[in-house]
Amino acid sequence: MRPVSADIDLSAIRSNVAILRDLVAPARVCAVVKADGYGHGAVATARAALAGGAHLLGVALVAEGAELRAAGIDAPVLVLSQASVHELDDLVAQRLDATVYTPAGVADLGAAAARVGRGRHDPVPVHLKVDTGMRRVGVQPADAVALARAVVADPGLHLASVFTHFAVADEPDDPFTAEQQRRYEAVLADLAAAGIEVPCRHAANSAGALAHPEARYDLVRLGIVVYGLSPSAEVPGPPGLRPAMSLRAAVSHVKRVPAGEGVSYGLRYRTDHETTLATVPLGYADGVPRRLSGTGGEVLVGGERRPIAGTITMDQLLVDCDDLPVAVGDEVVLIGAQGGAAIGAEEWADRLGTISYEIICGISPRVPRRHREDPS
Ligand SMILES: *Cc1c(COP(=O)(O)O)cnc(C)c1O
Repeated sequence: MRPVSADIDLSAIRSNVAILRDLVAPARVCAVVKADGYGHGAVATARAALAGGAHLLGVALVAEGAELRAAGIDAPVLVLSQASVHELDDLVAQRLDATVYTPAGVADLGAAAARVGRGRHDPVPVHLKVDTGMRRVGVQPADAVALARAVVADPGLHLASVFTHFAVADEPDDPFTAEQQRRYEAVLADLAAAGIEVPCRHAANSAGALAHPEARYDLVRLGIVVYGLSPSAEVPGPPGLRPAMSLRAAVSHVKRVPAGEGVSYGLRYRTDHETTLATVPLGYADGVPRRLSGTGGEVLVGGERRPIAGTITMDQLLVDCDDLPVAVGDEVVLIGAQGGAAIGAEEWADRLGTISYEIICGISPRVPRRHREDPS
């Protein structure tokens, strides 16, 4: 195996979910494990989240739900967007919960349910998504009652929830979240007036659940906080949350170089005195963004922060270790803790002008995941 790994602390995921479940109760938790569990491994994350008290799992794709089913996970799984017509038989056969927001989506799902033999005794759970301002997906509020009526009228479908999604929940001072809530509650009132029962209401992602307690309703859909990261600088995670992923490698090569030498492609980094350079066998093909070069990016070696030297290449990067004693095989931590020091995915994100989500989802499949249970 390559001397690199993304270590996933499953006890951190379990304990994060338990902390969040207690925080949001009596609302329940949907643990979002799309995109291979934000890079942590969907199946292992799903099991840890269920052990921590998650009630429902969220995925983006039917194929992601099928992966959970193939691993023997039988908890309810919600596909968060309306699946394409070509995926519906699969969705129904895999016993996934569906999201709908168009009349054609409801009709096609009803037809798939009938083909697979789901009827009044065993209808497909359907979650109706309303666009209250995100403008990504969802039925327009004025059309929500008619769409809900279509779901209720189909014997193969069961209206399980009505939900929406916030655009700016991670900026807690923005009044638009409250405006989205007003629009959402107006739709709920319309449905009630039409005599349509809504068994479950949900709106909040991680930021919404933390920063807007009044938006928790019956369920919150938590992604980033499950993995121990804060939704944004303005919305910190609750106390006790622990990042679940660390990225490590073993030094593959070491050399002393004189002062005044250029380093790596473009020779953009110059040694200002004689120094020890360590080679680390991770590069941009592993998800260490090349743009991190020259932003002051650092790694941990021997419990100290040391700068990444020069351009990050596809498979390798260089670290300026100065006079630190370092040998082939020594551990380098790119994300995580070593000694008393720590580097978080948020730090990379800040350097790169992005969000921690993109960092953890970007650690490529080429990096072996090592799942472990840390008893601490
Ligand atoms: C991805 C996603 C979430 C989770 O978002 P976080 O910010 O990671 O908590 C919740 N709801 C929907 C609809 C999503 O697509």
